[in-house]
Amino acid sequence: MTVAVYPGSFDPATNGHIDIATRAAAIFDRVIVAIYDRPAKNLLFTTEERVDMMAKALAGLPNVAVHSFSGLVVDLARRSGAKVIVRGLRASADFEYEFEMALMNRKLAPEIEVVCLMTSVEYLFLSASLLKEVAVLGGSIHNMVPDHVASALRKKFLR
Ligand code: ADP
Repeated sequence: MTVAVYPGSFDPATNGHIDIATRAAAIFDRVIVAIYDRPAKNLLFTTEERVDMMAKALAGLPNVAVHSFSGLVVDLARRSGAKVIVRGLRASADFEYEFEMALMNRKLAPEIEVVCLMTSVEYLFLSASLLKEVAVLGGSIHNMVPDHVASALRKKFLR
């Protein structure tokens, strides 16, 4: 059985993240979507909110679990019996960062492979940070996030 971990901040889950998780679930026996508890970023949503939104989005996939975690991704992968770390790749900007991180992870855990799935073209320019900028200014985020994420964003920004 091949277990894969798909780590990220997911602040919040976008259709781009959901697409990668769904495609990973079709390749690997079990996928753990692992949500960084405290990434080196300013977050809009709490860990619990990010886990709940992602879990709801992926509820239809029986081989996917959503958990929060802290510490190194490779440690989580080892604890979970995962041999693969999945990441999503958009354009060249992601590549540099993902390449660097993949090589570091290989140094830390040579037995674990990083597998990058290419974004679907409709999500090529979709990022959680840009999405939040559009949402805070009241722009349409239709087709970028599931409905429950869109209403969570509206609630946050109405406060
Ligand atoms: P990070 O892990 O850097 O905090 P995110 O939580 O935003 O980043 O994203 C988690 C993973 O999903 C990363 O590998 C990122 O490149 C990927 N990703 C983000 N948005 C998209 C998208 N629109 N299409 C494909 N992959 C994406």
